[in-house]
Amino acid sequence: MVATVGVLALQGGVEEHLRILDELGVATRRVRVPRDLDGLDGLVIPGGESSVIDKLARSFDLAEPLRDAAAAGLPVLATCAGLIYCARELDNPAPGQQTLGLLDVTVRRNAFGNQRFSAERTVDVVVAKDQSLPIEASFIRAPLVTRVGEGVEVIATAPGEDGDAVVGVRQGRVTALSFHPEENGDARVHSAWLDSF
Ligand code: GLN
Repeated sequence: MVATVGVLALQGGVEEHLRILDELGVATRRVRVPRDLDGLDGLVIPGGESSVIDKLARSFDLAEPLRDAAAAGLPVLATCAGLIYCARELDNPAPGQQTLGLLDVTVRRNAFGNQRFSAERTVDVVVAKDQSLPIEASFIRAPLVTRVGEGVEVIATAPGEDGDAVVGVRQGRVTALSFHPEENGDARVHSAWLDSF
């Protein structure tokens, strides 16, 4: 069983993730400064505004320690802005926006969640080998994965304007979704993620 899971708590939907992790009986810690990463067994990067998360992380000297922790094998679960922040490349970064580059994908910000794409839909998410779960997903100005690099597994797709759009990916121990499984208080994605440690 997992000892402690951190939630990057610079901006965005931090409390929703903490609530779900609490419900699952996991010890949690808000991560704001590098020493908060010490001894963690997993890290959640929440939704919010990725350019703000990036700016704050750099101003708290957290970006490099986050990269190092992920490189050392810390399991990461990223949702929405978290996916953007983990991507190697953005189609439409905010001016000066940087990312952690943990996932070999290209992401377009703010691709779904307006009139072009209904805010809620059921998405099948491959949470483990041979296990997929139908998740009621909220898309809120959600990103879209426009390029998937070698070694990146697609774990969720949703019908978009030009065919199926990639809305969930995994590379090594980094799992990222473009929507919010936590918005409806659904703990199943987190639970499966914890089981994968
Ligand atoms: N549009 C946001 C961004 O660029 C992501 C939206 C979200 O996290 N709900 O970070």
